[in-house]
Amino acid sequence: MRYPKLRELKEAVTAVFSPRFTTKFPAEPCVVPEKYRGKPEFDLDTCIGCGACVNVCPTRALTQVDDTQAKLPLRKITVRYDACIFCGNCHENCTTETGINLTNEWDLAGLDRDDMATTHEYELQMCEKCGALIGTKKHLLWLYDKLGPLAYTNPSILLAKSGQLHTHPNDIHQPAEVDAAVSDFMRILCPKCKCGLNIKM
Ligand code: SF4
Ligand code: SF4
Repeated sequence: MRYPKLRELKEAVTAVFSPRFTTKFPAEPCVVPEKYRGKPEFDLDTCIGCGACVNVCPTRALTQVDDTQAKLPLRKITVRYDACIFCGNCHENCTTETGINLTNEWDLAGLDRDDMATTHEYELQMCEKCGALIGTKKHLLWLYDKLGPLAYTNPSILLAKSGQLHTHPNDIHQPAEVDAAVSDFMRILCPKCKCGLNIKM
């Protein structure tokens, strides 16, 4: 005859008289640890719309669409909570470090997938010479603040700061095949046009 396993018997008796380990969710809210990785949310005060987070998102929960032909060229960045795995890559690699943050919000269940996405829009800046996309206006302003006095070496960033940015492709005055001339120095140029101009000067 086998004797009962005394260790298991002791654990069973102890469990009967111990407080439960499970929670009462959803009857009561479940409190998660402070550093819990939940729903990612953009901080529009510090997000500059650069799109770096989109490039590192492993599940494509973050997507980006640039409409450069619209009257007001826009970038739209969307985050889908139904595709997010809360890895934190977006926050870890954010250009401004706080443009997107993982909150403690974790109860994201719903019945409609369309409700599980948030989109933010950012105004784009196009090259005044060739019409190529340079980046978002917020990004240029952020560069100005980041560079300090060094920003004075780049007229495009200076113009961004002084509020003289143009938005519409109609602002392009020269055909793209014509190289940038010295008279283009105080215009908002993409890196390619800027490089061609610098070689001339
Ligand atoms: S937490 Fe991960 S999966 Fe979710 S949006 Fe950020 S990078 Fe993508
Ligand atoms: S990397 Fe940061 S600043 Fe750039 S778009 Fe993403 S959240 Fe915004």
